[in-house]
Amino acid sequence: MSGQAYLDLVRLPWMDAIDELVANNEAFANAQPGGHLDVRPNRKLAIVTCMDSRIDVFAALGLKGGEAHILRNAGGVVTDDVIRSLAVSQRKLGTREVMLIHHTDCGMQKLTDDGFRAELQAATGVAPAFAIESFTDVEEDVRQSLRRVRRSEFVPYREVVRGFVYDVDTHRLREVVA
Ligand SMILES: [Zn+2]
Repeated sequence: MSGQAYLDLVRLPWMDAIDELVANNEAFANAQPGGHLDVRPNRKLAIVTCMDSRIDVFAALGLKGGEAHILRNAGGVVTDDVIRSLAVSQRKLGTREVMLIHHTDCGMQKLTDDGFRAELQAATGVAPAFAIESFTDVEEDVRQSLRRVRRSEFVPYREVVRGFVYDVDTHRLREVVA
């Protein structure tokens, strides 16, 4: 389908969000200068943060494409899967620093592990195998995440692992001292 056809489609009232984004991508791709970036992030940095829609990681940190790995999940939790990605990031793609960013007003502060687990079990008949990883104290959760990275031998470079809280209202980062 041509770019113009997407632009025509986007005016239709029943379009969903993804169709609009596909049309946006057409315009974005047309505006790009072209060229190829190395798969290895040139700032040698991996960032772990929450999926929260208010954190525009690239804008908030002055990042551009090709500069850092961005790992996101509910809460910015250092799960086994995040450790998996950090292991690949450092061992195969050259990153050396890890930046953890939690934030104020996180959705994971609005539920409890037991409550959400029971809710999932009641709705599906199956208790999830994964940990829910809700939290109440955001700074303590950053500290726990720092400890998880620093204790993982799968992640070889642990000299520079720093944690922050991002305020979703002021957009400022505050470092958490472990
Ligand atoms: Zn969050």
